[in-house]
Amino acid sequence: MIVRDTVQMPCPHCQHVQDFEVLLLVTGDMEPPLRDRIISGDWATFCCQKCQKKELILYPTLYEDRVRKVRIHYQPDEAEAAQFLKQLPETVASYGPNYADYQVRLVTNPLDFMEKVAIFTAGYDDRIMEAVKQALKQADSLPNDLVDLYFGLNPEGDKLFYLYTPSGLLGLDFDEALYQQVAERAPEFGQDQVFVVDQDWVNQQQWI
Ligand SMILES: [Zn+2]
Repeated sequence: MIVRDTVQMPCPHCQHVQDFEVLLLVTGDMEPPLRDRIISGDWATFCCQKCQKKELILYPTLYEDRVRKVRIHYQPDEAEAAQFLKQLPETVASYGPNYADYQVRLVTNPLDFMEKVAIFTAGYDDRIMEAVKQALKQADSLPNDLVDLYFGLNPEGDKLFYLYTPSGLLGLDFDEALYQQVAERAPEFGQDQVFVVDQDWVNQQQWI
């Protein structure tokens, strides 16, 4: 299922007005091309037909995958997201019985949203992936000036970590053996909902 809207938007650089497609709900298992547009960041990129400049547009989207049984709410407005988080248990209850065994996530950063969609698309668990990222940071094998790292899928579908550094974006091959090592240590997560899974969450876990 897709819920989309087309809005008239002025280019932030030259004010040229053109259509911009807004994706409000994307069911990724039904629409792999749209899923891939989220993973690449293209879903939120405004490409001006006049001045050719590109701009990331921040707007909320709900992503779901019925195979992985996950729903990811992306709300880029921090205040709105904080409010939304308080109401999320009731919101999840209102989804109905079809969603009873779904994991639900809330992200506020577009890079986190792209990463979550990539993680579930690749068949991984985001809780284990956060632990893998922590293990990589602790192993001291990353650049000293690392700002952040994200799991991703490149346009060829290869799994990798994107390393953000002041000198540019680097790629690191995904280490399947490390993921499996961490997964073996992880507890049975059960159906407990953890709406926000990030490095802060993983730092509070005892099993790592
Ligand atoms: Zn323009």
